Amino acid sequence: MSYDAIKSERGLCAGNRPGLAGKCNGQLFECECGNVGCRQTYDNACSNQAYSAGFRCTKCGAVGKARPVSYEYRIGA
Ligand SMILES: [Zn+2]
Ligand SMILES: [Zn+2]
Repeated sequence: MSYDAIKSERGLCAGNRPGLAGKCNGQLFECECGNVGCRQTYDNACSNQAYSAGFRCTKCGAVGKARPVSYEYRIGA
């Protein structure tokens, strides 16, 4: 298993952040619509971004529907 896969299993974002060196490693969140990704304070800040400022889902547009994706959550899923 790759290092990135391990990171994603633990609920950390494995996306890349353009303009910044290295991986995102931000907390992952999941929306009611199933969209999973990290939250950033502006759009297109990470290749795996799913939420923008104010926890607005980039897929369905819902606000405040994100819940953290934890390691325990992944095990129980
Ligand atoms: Zn990210
Ligand atoms: Zn959504």
